Amino acid sequence: MYIEKLKINPDWCVIEETFDVTRIRHNESIMALGTGFLTTRSSFDEGFTDDEQNISYERKAMNVSLEVVPTKKSRWGTFIPLVQGRHPHWNVGVINLPYMLGLEVYADGEKLDMETGKISGYKRWLDMQKATLYRTFIWETKEGNKLNILFKRYMNPDDKFICVQELNIKALSGDAEIILKSYIDNDTRTNGHDKFISRAIGFAADRVIYSDVTGNLEDRIVTVSRLVCDKTETHIVERDGCRVSSSLSFKIKENEEAKALKVSAQAASVYFESENLLDEGIKMINTAIDKGAEALHAAHVERWAKNWEMSDIQISSNDPGEYNSQRAIRQSIYHLFRARSTDPRALNCAKGSTSEMYLGSVCWDMEIFFQPFYIYTQPALAKMTGLYRYGILEGARRSAKAHNYIGARYPWQTDRYGDEVCSLFEYADHEIHISADIVIGFWHYYLNTLDKDFLYYYGLEIILETSRYWTTRADKLKGRPGWHILGVMGPDEYKPITNNNAYTNFVVRESLRLAEKVANMCKADAPDVYNKLCEKIGFNEKELELFNEIADGLPIPKDEERKIIWQCDDFDTAYCEIDIEGLWKDKTKQFGFYTTQELKYRAKCLKQSDVIALMGLYTEAFTKEEMIASFEYYNPYTIHDSSNSICHNAIVAAYMGRPDLAYENWLKSIDIDFGLRARASDGIHFANVGGMWQEVVHGFGGLVNALSTDTLTFKPCIPEQIKEVSFQIVWKGQKVGVTVTKDSVKMKNLSDKEIEFKVYENQIKVSANDEIDVKY
Ligand code: BGC
Repeated sequence: MYIEKLKINPDWCVIEETFDVTRIRHNESIMALGTGFLTTRSSFDEGFTDDEQNISYERKAMNVSLEVVPTKKSRWGTFIPLVQGRHPHWNVGVINLPYMLGLEVYADGEKLDMETGKISGYKRWLDMQKATLYRTFIWETKEGNKLNILFKRYMNPDDKFICVQELNIKALSGDAEIILKSYIDNDTRTNGHDKFISRAIGFAADRVIYSDVTGNLEDRIVTVSRLVCDKTETHIVERDGCRVSSSLSFKIKENEEAKALKVSAQAASVYFESENLLDEGIKMINTAIDKGAEALHAAHVERWAKNWEMSDIQISSNDPGEYNSQRAIRQSIYHLFRARSTDPRALNCAKGSTSEMYLGSVCWDMEIFFQPFYIYTQPALAKMTGLYRYGILEGARRSAKAHNYIGARYPWQTDRYGDEVCSLFEYADHEIHISADIVIGFWHYYLNTLDKDFLYYYGLEIILETSRYWTTRADKLKGRPGWHILGVMGPDEYKPITNNNAYTNFVVRESLRLAEKVANMCKADAPDVYNKLCEKIGFNEKELELFNEIADGLPIPKDEERKIIWQCDDFDTAYCEIDIEGLWKDKTKQFGFYTTQELKYRAKCLKQSDVIALMGLYTEAFTKEEMIASFEYYNPYTIHDSSNSICHNAIVAAYMGRPDLAYENWLKSIDIDFGLRARASDGIHFANVGGMWQEVVHGFGGLVNALSTDTLTFKPCIPEQIKEVSFQIVWKGQKVGVTVTKDSVKMKNLSDKEIEFKVYENQIKVSANDEIDVKY
C-alpha cells in the first residue's frame, strides 16, 4: 500500500483524515501550491459532478470583505499575480487562468468519483517540508476490483510556471481496464466575470493539449499539458466546448502498477518575449518530463529544504485539543514562501493568491503584516517589496494629481499599473495611511539590512514624494495649534472620516521625519545620487522645513489621566454604545452581516483597533501603562471582523506582560485559517498568516523590531503552554539562532563578528560563532 511507504509527520503535515465534501473548498486554499509566480488551489484532480465552474455572477460594490460567492464544492483557482484583467465594477485585478489540473480516472468503465465511489483508507495531506500534496485511498469499482491510488502534486519555485502531477495506480485485486483523461478547461470566471476576450483549444505533437486565451487587457496565456504513462496502449484526444483532453487507456493485472505523470505549464505573454507561447509552454513541459518524476521531485524537495533551512521555527508546546502550534507556524511560513515571487511587478495580495477575492490587489498587508518575515529571515525577498512600491510610484503620482494633491499618494489597493483597485470611496479616498505604511516598510527593511544604496536610489524618492503629498493633505484648524489630518479611515474600517486618527497621524509623522534624516544621509554618503534626485523631482531643501513642522504638529490624541490613546479626536464621546452581544446572533459569522454600514459607522464597534495596531507595530513608543489602559478600553468594542486584527492584539498582550492573553490570541489566529472551522473557502487570510510569524517571533520570542531599537533586543513572553521557541533571524546582516524558554534566552551567534544584544535591560556580548544562555 502506498500509505505504508509515506511518512506523515503531524508537525509538518496538514492532514485530511476523511473525505468531506463540505471542506473541499477550504482545503483547496489551505493546501494550495505555488512557485510564487504561479499558484494553484489544490482542487481534486478528477473533479466533482455537478460542480460547474463557469457560473457568472455579479459582484457589486459593497463592503469589501463581505463578498458572497455562489457555493460550489470546489473553486478552481490558478493565478499569476501579474496577469490581470478588467472587472466591470472592480477595476483591474488578477485573472483566474484556464484550469490545467484535470485528470479523470476510469476503471472498468466507471469514473472515479469521491462522492459516489466506494472509497476506503482515504488520506490527503500537504507535506510542507516537501511542499508536496498527497492523496491516497483504495477504490473498489462496481466490478469489485480494488485499486490503490496515489496522487502527488508539487510546484518547484525554480520552474516558475510549471505544475507536476503524479498518479500511481496499483491493482490490489482483479485486473482492471484503466483510462486516464487529462484535460485543460478555459471556461473559467474571475469574481463571477468572464475576463477573456478570446479562447481557443487545440492539440500538438506528443499528446500535448493546450488552451490559448486572451484577457481583456491583451494578456495572452497559453496553457499546455502533457500526460505520459508507463503502460499506455491507446491514446485519443478530444475537444468538448472549452475543454480539451488527452486520454490514455491500458490494462493492469492484479498486483501490477501503472505510473503516470502529468506536467502542465502556463505561458503568459507578460513573461515571454517570443510570440510563440505554445512553443515556450511545450519546451517547459517537455524539459520537465524528460527529467522524469523522481528527479523532478528530488530537485523540488531540495529547493524547499533551502527555504526551511533559514526560516523554520521550532515550537515545543502543550496545546489544547486539536491545536498544534508547531504545525501552525509552519503553515504560516509555508504560505509566506509559496506566495512570494522575485518579480517586483506584482507581489503578494491579501489572499496570498489563493483566490481572487481582493482582486489580487496589494494592500498595506504587505508592509505591515508579511514584510517582517522576509526582512528578518529572507532579506532578498524582502527587497521585492520596496522594488514593487518604487515600480508603481508613477501610479501614486497619478493618484495624488487626480485627488488635487502634489507628490505621491499610493492607492489603497493597487493593481499592476499602480492604480486604485478599490471602488469604494470610504476606503479608496480615506484609507490614506497606506502611503506612510509604505515608507515605514521601506525604512524597516533598511534598518535591518543597512542597504544604503537601495534606500538612496529607491527609498528616498518615495519618502520625499509622499511627504509632499502630506503637505497638501494636512490641514490647519481655527483655534487649534499644530497640523491635523482630517477625514480619514484608519485601519479600523468601521469608522470612516475620522479626524486625527492616532494610527494615521503617528505613521505619517514618522514618515515625514524620515525625509530630512534620509536626505542628509544620502547627501553625505552619495551626493551625486542626491543631487540627481533633487533635479529629477525638482526638490528644494526648504521643503524639509514644512515636512518637519507638520510632523511636529500632528497630535496623537490621548487621555492623559486614564493613559488611553484615542483612536481619533473625541473617540470616547463622538460614538454611541451599542449592544454588540445582542446584535451578533451567530459568532461564526462576521458581525458585519448583522449590522448596517451606517450603524457600524456611528457606534463604538471596531473592525480592528487602530491603537492596538499602532502599539503592535511600535512596541517601544508606548508605556506599559498606556498599552494596558488602551487594550482594556478597546477590547470590549473590538469585533475582529478583520483577520488583520488578532496578531497585533497578541503582540500587544505580550508586551503588556500577559502571556495568557498572548496565547489566547495566538489560538484565535490559528483558527482564522488553520483551525477546525472551514474559513478559508475563498482564500487564506494572508495578513494573518504573516501576523502569525510576528506573534511567535515578536510576541512570544520578544524580538523588538528594528523600527524601535538599534540593539538586538528580546523581551520574551512565553505562555505556560509553550516550553520553548527556536528560530533564526538575520539582524543587521548578522545571523543568529535563538531559543527562548520561560526564563532564558539562548543566543547562538552564527556570524563571524561579535554581536551585542539585550534581554530586557540586560546587555550582553557574544563572540563570533559562540553561544550564551541568558536568564531573565
Ligand atoms: C481589512 C484591511 C485589509 C484587507 C485585506 C480588510 O478586511 O480591514 O485592513 O487590508 O482586508 O486583507
